[in-house]
Amino acid sequence: MSDDMWPLGVFASCDEGLGLSLDLVRDLGVATVHLHAPRPESRSEDLAIRLEEKLANSDITATCMFAGFEGESYADISATRSTVGLVPEEHRKERIDEFKLISNFALMLGIDVVGMHLGFIPIESQSEMYDGLVGVMKHLCEFCHGKSQSIYLETGQETVATLLAFLRDVDAENLFVNFDPANMILYGVGEPLPALQQLGPYVRSVHCKDAKWSDLPGETWGTEVPLGEGDVGVRAFLQLLHDIGYSGPLTIEREIPHECDRQVREVRDGIELLKELTSQVKGEAEVSS
Ligand code: MG
Repeated sequence: MSDDMWPLGVFASCDEGLGLSLDLVRDLGVATVHLHAPRPESRSEDLAIRLEEKLANSDITATCMFAGFEGESYADISATRSTVGLVPEEHRKERIDEFKLISNFALMLGIDVVGMHLGFIPIESQSEMYDGLVGVMKHLCEFCHGKSQSIYLETGQETVATLLAFLRDVDAENLFVNFDPANMILYGVGEPLPALQQLGPYVRSVHCKDAKWSDLPGETWGTEVPLGEGDVGVRAFLQLLHDIGYSGPLTIEREIPHECDRQVREVRDGIELLKELTSQVKGEAEVSS
């Protein structure tokens, strides 16, 4: 089994955002990050150069830049539905333009993947809304393809059946999935492990995040908890990643940016947990091969 399988990573931010600052990430000793895109006013060639230097000096590879948009709210499921991603039609045009700027900024840093929450994909696949969204995604995939970039859609806001249908309808060779098992639980859209099995080859990156189910799945949020303390089943998650042939980064997310000390401590605990569990999974694979 390759030594460079499953490099550990952390979700990081360059300015305000859900991730850890790069200075804190450096102290954690991980090899990779997913980087939340900086705000429009901070995005510049100068910032790109400084970020590139900081990453290089810390021996950290940024494997994905996550797009986010002005006006998005994750306050509750209803707010998420009406404000997030490219689904809300009133913001779609400006966000398409913004996505392209983020893609360009990622390219300045040599990042060949842009990740995003697309928003709640409509279930009605025969609707005008759905067709419009497929068209937008095709357009953005073509835009990124011209620059050898891929787009990874983050899981969570729709069932695996809806996501799979959407991926097939867009039918782009550079459209994949960032699988976040906790989101499936937080949004109440299905058991994460069977979803991972079904998405299989589309999964090109993952977030290692944990959560507990809500009493009213799909109506109220579940609760995000430290990795290993929720309902994901991290050992089984890793085993399945191994079984479907996923060898990319394991990127820890702990979305409590306003409790920085706790966030760092729990990310560090998550790193230790992943080290232990990945060595178990890899060890068993060695024995059985
Ligand atoms: Mg995530």
